[in-house]
Amino acid sequence: MDKPMRRGYLSRPTVICAWCDRVLVTGSSQVSHGVCEPCADAFARTVDELPRHPSAA
Ligand SMILES: [Zn+2]
Repeated sequence: MDKPMRRGYLSRPTVICAWCDRVLVTGSSQVSHGVCEPCADAFARTVDELPRHPSAA
């Protein structure tokens, strides 16, 4: 009952969006990169709008 819950909290790294540097998860001093929802959506749209490679066939 007296055990602090800090261990689990600190074991998780801080996650920052690799695109807009937005902090997704606040954790330890260790930083991990991810992609936030708006950026993931924008990326998906960008890919969808990209011209498809013409098949050589
Ligand atoms: Zn982002």
